[in-house]
Amino acid sequence: MIRYILFDLDNTLYSIRTGMEEDFQRRIIAFTARFLGLSPEEALIRRREGISRYGTTLEWLMGDRGFTAIDEYYAAVHPSGEEDVIPPDPELRRFLESLGLPLAILTNSPREHTDRVLAKIGIADLFTHIFDMRWNGNQGKPLPIAFTRALDALGSGPDNTLFVDDAPRYVQGYLNLGGRGILRDELDRHPDYPHPKIRELRELTRYL
Ligand SMILES: [Mg+2]
Repeated sequence: MIRYILFDLDNTLYSIRTGMEEDFQRRIIAFTARFLGLSPEEALIRRREGISRYGTTLEWLMGDRGFTAIDEYYAAVHPSGEEDVIPPDPELRRFLESLGLPLAILTNSPREHTDRVLAKIGIADLFTHIFDMRWNGNQGKPLPIAFTRALDALGSGPDNTLFVDDAPRYVQGYLNLGGRGILRDELDRHPDYPHPKIRELRELTRYL
């Protein structure tokens, strides 16, 4: 029985069509290129290889490249005003309220970005907990510790906490812990994904 819902933020609580993630992925590549002294094209190739071993670009730069300027990284990747592309979503608010379950967020983004985006959507007050990258000691999904820390804080187990994310390998990380995980695949980009998935959040009611 599901007693808690744990949501990813980016491309999960707002539409991928906003272009928000595309914008900050571009800033991540630009930052990585500057830090490594590479062209953006070269940085993109190195990063692709790096994040196959790490959950996030930040963890790769810290783990392999001796990077330590975490606040500088977040400021470059998530400048204020980035949330302008996100529209308010009163319909989502009504839907989340109608679920009648406590809700929390587990994101690989920093808190300042999370707060801005939630405020723009108009749902910032609906979550009991927000677990961001700094809260998790900059150890992000899909590391088991990123999930188990959050579950411990919620006082909830993987089998009665539904986790929703748009990244197949993050959902897979949660399924590997025995969790109930749902992929949000809005544009059907992962047709071969073998586990439960939805296009729109309203379909979540099938899994509650
Ligand atoms: Mg996401």
